[in-house]
Parts: sequence; C-alpha cells; structure tokens
Amino acid sequence: MDGEALQGRRRAAWVPGAIIVGAGPSGLAAAACLAARGVPATVLEMADSLASTWRHRTYDRLTLHLPRRFCELPLLPFPEGYPEYPSKDQFVAYMEGYAAAAGVAPRFGAHVEEAAFDAAAGAWAVRLAGGDELLLARWLVVATGENAVPRRPEFPGARLFEGPVVHTCDYKSGEAFSGRKVLVVGCGNSGMEVSLDLCRHGAKPSLVVRNTVHVLPREMFGLSTFGIAMALLRLFSVPAVDRILLAAARLALGDTGKLGLRRPKTGPMELKNLTGRTPVLDVGTLGHIKTGKIKVVGAVKEVTQRGVRFADGKEEQFDAIILATGYRSNVPSWLKDGEGEDDDGRVRDGGEVFTSQGMPRVPFPNGWRGKNGLYTVGFSQRGLLGASSDALNIARDIHCQWKDMMSRPACNNVLQSDETV
Ligand SMILES: Cc1cc2nc3c(=O)[nH]c(=O)nc-3n(C[C@H](O)[C@H](O)[C@H](O)COP(=O)(O)OP(=O)(O)OC[C@H]3O[C@@H](n4cnc5c(N)ncnc54)[C@H](O)[C@@H]3O)c2cc1C
Repeated sequence: MDGEALQGRRRAAWVPGAIIVGAGPSGLAAAACLAARGVPATVLEMADSLASTWRHRTYDRLTLHLPRRFCELPLLPFPEGYPEYPSKDQFVAYMEGYAAAAGVAPRFGAHVEEAAFDAAAGAWAVRLAGGDELLLARWLVVATGENAVPRRPEFPGARLFEGPVVHTCDYKSGEAFSGRKVLVVGCGNSGMEVSLDLCRHGAKPSLVVRNTVHVLPREMFGLSTFGIAMALLRLFSVPAVDRILLAAARLALGDTGKLGLRRPKTGPMELKNLTGRTPVLDVGTLGHIKTGKIKVVGAVKEVTQRGVRFADGKEEQFDAIILATGYRSNVPSWLKDGEGEDDDGRVRDGGEVFTSQGMPRVPFPNGWRGKNGLYTVGFSQRGLLGASSDALNIARDIHCQWKDMMSRPACNNVLQSDETV
C-alpha cells in the first residue's frame, strides 16, 4: 500500500488525531468516544447533514426496528419520553443532540474519493472530491455504512416497463400509489413494511418472495422478541434459542409456510450469525397477507411493458415496481486497502482489511481493527449495537497510541504541521 499516487502536487494538511469517514450513527459514535478520551477527530461527510441515510433515504413510517435500549449510542441515552420504538425523526433528533453534546461538528460536503496508506509519511492520505486538498492522519476510521449503495437487480426487459420503478431508498409513502397495483420485490423488513404501508394507503401490493425467510413477531408475551433472544443467548446455545423462538413464533403467527413464507432450515439466530441475514420482525404485514390484502408471489423472470412474467411462466400487470432489494457497502470504490496475495499465495479478492464486497474480512467481534491505523465501525451486521461496540473498542485502541504519541515531543509538531508534497 502506498499513498504516492494520491499526492502529486496537492497541498497536504496533517489533521490531528483520526479522520472518520461518514457522519451516520457509526461515525458519530466513534467521534464521541474519541472526544470523551480527549482524542481529536475530523469527521468527513459527503452529504449536507449528519445521519443523512436516516434523513433522506428512508420511508416516512419508519421507526427503529429494535427497542430503543438496543439502539442507543455510547455515552448518551435517548431523551426522556421517547417511545419504545422511536420514529425516524426522533432518531435523527437524538443524533443531532448526540453530536452537539459530544462537541462533534462534521465537515459536510466532504466526499472522500480516495484514501490510501502513505508508508513514507506513516499516515493515511485522504483525497476529497472537487479540489486539490489532501488530508493526512495517523488513523483512518471507515464509517460509511453497510447501506451506502442501493442494490438494483437488473431484470431482463426492465427498460420496457412503462410504470415507475422505485428503490426503497426513494420511497416515502404509499400515498402516491393509492388504488394502484404495485409489485414489491424483496421480503426483508423493508419489503414487508412498504407492503403494509401501501395497503394502508389503498394500494394493492404483491410481495415477491423468492427465497425462504424467517418471520418472527416483533413482540412475544408483551416483550421484544429481540430482547428475549438476547437474554436467552446468555443461558442457552444458539440452536436451543432458535428452537424456543420458532416454537413461540408458531404460536403467535401460525405456520408462515402456508402463507408462502417458507422458513429456512437453519434457525433465525444461527442464520444471522452465519450469513448476516436478519429475521423479519412482523409489524402487522402477516395479518394483511392472511386476509389477502397483500398477495405473495414467486420469483420474477422478466419485466414486460405492463408488468412482469414470473418464473412459473404466469404473467401479471402492475402499475409500479418497488425494489426492496437492500444495499451494499461503497468501501471498495474509495479505500485503497492493499492488493496482492493471501498468506497461502492465492490472489486476494479485495483489499487486506475489506473484501471486494466492502465488508471486513475478519468477522465480529474482531473486525473493527485493520492494519496501519485503519479501523472499521458499523460493519458487523449487528446494527447500532454492533456499531457502539466497535466505537468503544476503536476509541480505547487509538487513545492508547495517542497517549504514547503525545508523550513524545516531536510528534506534537508533526501533528500540527501543514506542508506541500
Ligand atoms: C430501514 C432501516 C432500518 C434500520 N433500523 C435499525 C434499527 O432499528 N436498529 C438497528 O440497530 N439498526 C437498524 N438499521 C441498521 C443500521 O443501524 C443503520 O443502517 C445505521 O444507519 C447504520 O449507521 P452507519 O453510520 O454505519 O451508516 P449510515 O447511517 O449509512 O451512515 C454512513 C454515512 O457515510 C456517508 N458516506 C458514505 N460514503 C462516503 C464518502 N465516500 N465520503 C464521505 N461520506 C460518506 C454517508 O453519506 C452517510 O451519512 C436499519 C437500517 C435500515 C436501512
């Protein structure tokens, strides 16, 4: 790895402490935990505000999927009076307050186009879009999220379709689809919730269920299913917890297979650990499937001018298609993370720390620390709880090095310097 390609004749400025890329919950948590330990950080955010994913790329009816106690960032609880499942506006307000309380002021409109380790300088060189500025920092914290780029499957014939095709990142409410037949592709939490929202606005949704899926009630016996699962995991093995969850889900929801939602053979918690696939927490969608207000359909083979042809050969007309097909990381597009071979001599797929899919090679709980002062926060596929754990670990680790560095007088000078390379 080296940052020479980045430099050319750019003006390079050392920034003290760490550079954090991304001002979502993960980046803010890392910055706040560093600030609490007296380590400075510069937060670079390409959007015009913090928490931009929640602000701009979510639907109106979104609330946190998990109870608030599992979504609090380190050091600051949610304000008094927040409901068990805060709305997206409440969550954004919490993050505004969080950044203010920690004294974190991200630099907005700062799109990191490239970052690479400069071995000669012993620092990460970070280039921003639209300028000749190059920032150098001893530590780089990647906080650009698992949900940076919408996934848009390319169906044959998609260009022929005459109606709108909307990814959930651009979907706000079902109001615009009232009275219309809408195909929702994808049966994760977003696909299920958007189908419900469409129903509530008088649209007629069909939900594409291509694979098996675990649906669990959001609450069991008046308690959060996620909370119950977390408590049980402290006492029992993952397969035992899965058996308990599935028995309780069957009692609460009946046989979801009869509704076209077949369960995977692997239990929900084990599947989450193995693949990162999160079980769907039902907020009422199943009730609408049972009454036929939401129709479950199979895989799409191709899109036609007026609708789709399914894998079983049947054709159906739709007025609109909504893609609830998820997101992926954008890390490979900007982080130069080393190329080459694995220890066993095979050409590596991706960089040293991140795979070609933009996810850390080392799984949770150890994926937060990379090499040469590179860190990752919010890539553990464990939501805000995982991001909080990463942020605390990162702050502790950088703080140890920072203390050591600040006790050497020469370092104080280099951290403040500004030079041209
Ligand atoms: C619909 C939905 C609901 C969810 N609900 C929950 C929940 O209830 N509980 C839970 O624990 N988790 C939930 N999650 C999962 C996860 O916690 C959230 O996605 C959370 O926003 C992740 O935070 P983040 O900071 O890692 O990423 P993001 O919130 O996506 O923030 C990343 C930031 O990085 C910026 N960025 C990206 N690339 C660059 C670049 N090159 N240069 C500069 N800036 C850049 C982006 O603009 C963005 O602001 C949910 C996710 C979704 C999609």
